[in-house]
Amino acid sequence: MSGKEFSCVLCNSGTVGVTTSDFVKGDKSGTLAVVECGTCGHCQLNPPFYSSDFYEKDGQVNNVIENYGTAFETIVNHSWVEARRRFDRFADQGIDLPAGETSGFTAIDVGGGYGFFGNILANKLPNAEVLVLDPSKSRIEKGRELMADLPAVANLDLAADFLDDAYAEQHRAQFDLVTMWHVLEHLDDPVGLLRNAFKLLRKGGTLCVEVPNRNDELMALSPAFRDRWFMVEHISYFTPALLEKTAWMAAPDASIKVTGYQRYGIFNYFHWVHFNKPQGENPDLFEGKDRLWIETTWRAAREAACTSDALFMTVKKLAD
Ligand SMILES: [Zn+2]
Repeated sequence: MSGKEFSCVLCNSGTVGVTTSDFVKGDKSGTLAVVECGTCGHCQLNPPFYSSDFYEKDGQVNNVIENYGTAFETIVNHSWVEARRRFDRFADQGIDLPAGETSGFTAIDVGGGYGFFGNILANKLPNAEVLVLDPSKSRIEKGRELMADLPAVANLDLAADFLDDAYAEQHRAQFDLVTMWHVLEHLDDPVGLLRNAFKLLRKGGTLCVEVPNRNDELMALSPAFRDRWFMVEHISYFTPALLEKTAWMAAPDASIKVTGYQRYGIFNYFHWVHFNKPQGENPDLFEGKDRLWIETTWRAAREAACTSDALFMTVKKLAD
């Protein structure tokens, strides 16, 4: 990495460690690499390239369409499946949501994109106020369009804005629940973002964060999977330990818990292992309970060992 200035997005160290990957999917410049920090070991894009214009133009969705041939309708379909599954997990994760008539509960989905998760949350908790925040105006507009034919949800609001220091200060301690689904890995200051997200919480509130898992065991089982794993959209590649450390740096007094979470199904996994290539335009992303006993065992083992494809973290605010 000689000739390129390195600065760790977690610890600000200027000491670069080993190169993890010279190939970054979607890097049209051909100049990006993935390296480890020589001080804390965090794995990141170098340089940590971020383009707000990319997200404004819905670049990540366009890349999935381009790279895997996935139809836009399939992406929308999968997004709804994920939104429902995310809601259903709160009970499993021991996160209390207000039942029935309880009002006054407020939630914000940061980087909420089209707003599907916000829509599910607002529908399931009719007495809560739900806000979806996304920096991209075009994604918010597209979301409104995609939900235009659905019944109106009075307690859901979508806003095109960015969670920066000013926003966090302005909305300090206004929310009981803050969610960030696959957002943290996209930005060049993960500690600052978590600090701002944590600021939004009331005492007793919970911040929920999900990111891809650097310790996904499929990386070792399928070279083709590994080749596609590092991508221009992702600046940070978190291990369970470094995700926890990031939260600790942002909120040292919080109660922090990191667990494994498996997003994609067993047929997608086997396809990568057996054929060493993607499953195609419609990968196995099922809804509901595991279909087979072997799937239940496989999921439980991977999540327990934190070798699943994603990591889920809760950061609970214990004091003001
Ligand atoms: Zn570092």
